[in-house]
Amino acid sequence: MTEATLGRLEIICGPMFSGKTTELIRRIEEARNFGFTTRAIKPTTDTRYSALDLVTHTGQRIQASAAMNAAEILAIAKEFPIEARMKVIAIDEAHFFAADLSQVCVTLLSWDFRVIVVGLEFDHRGDVFDPFPTLFNISHNITRLVGLCAVCGCDAIHTQRMIDSKERIVVGGVGDYEPRCVKCFAPSRG
Ligand SMILES: [Zn+2]
Repeated sequence: MTEATLGRLEIICGPMFSGKTTELIRRIEEARNFGFTTRAIKPTTDTRYSALDLVTHTGQRIQASAAMNAAEILAIAKEFPIEARMKVIAIDEAHFFAADLSQVCVTLLSWDFRVIVVGLEFDHRGDVFDPFPTLFNISHNITRLVGLCAVCGCDAIHTQRMIDSKERIVVGGVGDYEPRCVKCFAPSRG
């Protein structure tokens, strides 16, 4: 029998268009090839392309379960088959779940899940999204991806909002946001 995995938290963060979901899909497919039971989760508010798939901006896709809030992630975890000893939960667009996600991740780790958290580290004002400072402290591995600044071509860590909104989270795609470097990023006032 295969040994059960120990709880492990991996973080993939970076601005929009830096390849985060592509990296998530790569890790899920790799884990499946090693015999892990995997589940990808995304927030239900993200309806950009499809309610049940994780889709990259270049069209790669895998099936996902939709969660309305962080607590629902635990409900999905409880649906794993009892015989599954190598378990992976990957959470895309993790910033949608806000600070509640931290405790959920602690619980998943205590249940020996390998957890992959993927999301934006910074909002449109350049402020850190709530779950990340805490998640960084309890993570075993952090991958910080950079995009290509849409203005100057340098490494981009920020996401520039091109549309007018005061909301912290606005679902958008190509044209609504662009990656920007620290110099070219202009924090939204809203
Ligand atoms: Zn730039």
